[in-house]
Amino acid sequence: MRELYSQRIECPHCGHHIHVSLDTTCGDQDFYEDCAACCNPIHLNMHIDDLRNKLELHVDSDDEQIF
Ligand SMILES: [Zn+2]
Repeated sequence: MRELYSQRIECPHCGHHIHVSLDTTCGDQDFYEDCAACCNPIHLNMHIDDLRNKLELHVDSDDEQIF
């Protein structure tokens, strides 16, 4: 299993495609990435499935959060 992934995701706010780098060495991660197009925060939830050696990435827009 590689340790660094580059994943293309779609911004839930504007549909813009951005690339995020995922470091799988630290286990499951919950983090935010700002969209380059609309500057809205994108909530990313990364889950490592050790059993199936798989990486799951969930993308959410936290609409209720105001910055
Ligand atoms: Zn966007």
